[in-house]
Amino acid sequence: MKDVIIIGAGIAGLSAGFELYKNNIDFQILEPTDRAGGAIETLKIGDCLIESGPHTFSSLSKETMELIKDLGIEDLLQEADPKAKKRSIYRNGQLVAVPSGLKEFIKTDILSKDSKMMLLEELFIKKEEKEETVQDFVERRFGREVLKNFIQPYLNGLFAGDVQKLSANAVFPKLKELEKKYRSIVFGMFLSSKFRSSFKGLTLYSFTNGMETLSDEIHNKLKNKVTLGAKDIEISRAKDFYIVNFKVNNKTINYTANSILFAIPAYAMSEFAYLLPKGYASEITQIEYSPIATVVQTVDKSNVGTSTEGFGYLCTKEPHKKLLGTIWTSSIFPDRAPSDKMLLTSYIGGTLNKKIIDQPKEEIANLTAKEVAETMQISDSNSIETIYIKVHTNAIPQYNLGHLNRVKRIEELMDTNIGLFFTGNYLYGISINDTVKTSRKTVEKIKIYINTVKQSTHIEKDLVKN
Ligand SMILES: Cc1cc2nc3c(=O)[nH]c(=O)nc-3n(C[C@H](O)[C@H](O)[C@H](O)COP(=O)(O)OP(=O)(O)OC[C@H]3O[C@@H](n4cnc5c(N)ncnc54)[C@H](O)[C@@H]3O)c2cc1C
Repeated sequence: MKDVIIIGAGIAGLSAGFELYKNNIDFQILEPTDRAGGAIETLKIGDCLIESGPHTFSSLSKETMELIKDLGIEDLLQEADPKAKKRSIYRNGQLVAVPSGLKEFIKTDILSKDSKMMLLEELFIKKEEKEETVQDFVERRFGREVLKNFIQPYLNGLFAGDVQKLSANAVFPKLKELEKKYRSIVFGMFLSSKFRSSFKGLTLYSFTNGMETLSDEIHNKLKNKVTLGAKDIEISRAKDFYIVNFKVNNKTINYTANSILFAIPAYAMSEFAYLLPKGYASEITQIEYSPIATVVQTVDKSNVGTSTEGFGYLCTKEPHKKLLGTIWTSSIFPDRAPSDKMLLTSYIGGTLNKKIIDQPKEEIANLTAKEVAETMQISDSNSIETIYIKVHTNAIPQYNLGHLNRVKRIEELMDTNIGLFFTGNYLYGISINDTVKTSRKTVEKIKIYINTVKQSTHIEKDLVKN
């Protein structure tokens, strides 16, 4: 009997497995595809090293940095060029740097004088206890311009979502906390040392061979604890344990287990809805996902008219624009492309432009090249070469209004002691750092559950003996 069967070998399932391994808890990870890593995927195309999914992670997560240390791969970390801290926004046909300090903020023309004044008057705005959308929250406290020129593009980069649907309480919990505690978010940012210290010493990282190093190294450590190509997974509940059947190369395999940890996307839970008590399945499967296409392109540096110093740019919402933003990969990691080329990773689509991803890849490539050329002052969009496209039909879970209640219900389900557990980026944050932290949190619950199961088994055995 296994203690835990983990379904899914993305970073959520792998990092949970590694945590169980460290705690001597017996488990097996089942993954239907032929690779571990899920959304994390690095590819070598010609002379370029590219990412189809996540590009970087920040040093601010204790859990991820500990995981890297435990794996012994600190020397494989690759630090982003320090200039990559500079971020830009594309607005009204121009790239504008996001101000990184008070002086720059006063000078920037991203916001009008009126909007800047409104930030000072923010102290006098009443706080709102009820859950509200990002749009309502930001407009109420900071005005429409801040929403349009900062928050919408920022969330394009994170959620590729819709500010009219995303929950401010789920997306900006730290800002909501400042509002509650200090009444003013602007003043709260200056007054709260906890808030300020949460961003101190931020460094952006990947690995010299790309993000896949992280998932590959966990996979290598766990090796025979990960079953790839596990098809037709079926789970049934016996009296107080689970029976898991699946096929590998058409051969049926089965396990029994005390508990199941689902580390799959929320929408994929529809396959296992029959296992959940009434009412819970819809809480999970109804979580919306935004679609995104990753479009990787190269262009001769000599053809680019704008400065390309920095991380890249995010786009404001404009009716004829479909691009969410572009990462200047070769500015962040210069060794990932030949020195005379710019390597660009663009994201297109999102909740507001869902239909884009249904178009033929050639159309997606042309549309992206056209918008990139306009933004980066490249006179001929045909000089941009598309080297890779990946369409993520369900890319990023949306923390829409009601998200926090939904998560509470999922926590409730894990606490009912039926041995079903959940992890993934649809719970407490969408980044790799958040996902690793979520898996750790869930493994703490599993440890308690497994201990209880083992203790009661011992008691039953003792009773039989006596
Ligand atoms: C385009 C893109 C760019 C991103 N950029 C960044 C970034 O720069 N930095 C950052 O921190 N984060 C980024 N993210 C987010 C980050 O990649 C994810 O949060 C993280 O990888 C999610 O891991 P996961 O294990 O929860 O899910 P996944 O990686 O989706 O893994 C889920 C696994 O479950 C398996 N599975 C699915 N359905 C089933 C089923 N029915 N049965 C069994 N198994 C199943 C899948 O095959 C997969 O292996 C990005 C995401 C995308 C899509």
